[in-house]
Amino acid sequence: MMTYDSDNIFAKILRGEIPSEKLYEDDATFVFMDIMPRADGHCLVIPKDAARNMLDASPAQLAACLATVQKMGHAVMKAFAADGVTVQQFNEAAGGQEVFHLHYHVLPRHDGVALRPPGKMADFDVLKAQAAKIRAALSE
Ligand code: 5GP
Repeated sequence: MMTYDSDNIFAKILRGEIPSEKLYEDDATFVFMDIMPRADGHCLVIPKDAARNMLDASPAQLAACLATVQKMGHAVMKAFAADGVTVQQFNEAAGGQEVFHLHYHVLPRHDGVALRPPGKMADFDVLKAQAAKIRAALSE
């Protein structure tokens, strides 16, 4: 089993050492915008406690994350008048994981619209405006 590296970028976001566009938090989870969004409203749900990925996470961490994923799914559906939501979660490099702190991608989807290719940095003003829409949907 690979071990957790507390210097990963999401651990730094949780500690406030690097900024993020925060959408939501509760006792166990934290949600923020993905900086290289593959769809408008693409956000990431992470546990506050250390877990490298699904393989070493506790059942409680997985349950807390999935409850928040569902909450964010409803919020992004509403904020972007989406037709559906894609949830992605990758484990280890061979499984497509690049950041080694457990995270769930929540991606609002529209009929006939493909996900954008990975790796393109967002315009930060656009990201902020989209985050505001999601926060508003969460508070309705
Ligand atoms: P994965 O590990 O699931 O393959 O992908 C990691 C995700 O984290 C990617 O979608 C990437 O855009 C996102 N990401 C990487 N670095 C940062 C960062 O510093 N801030 C934010 N908000 N997202 C990041």
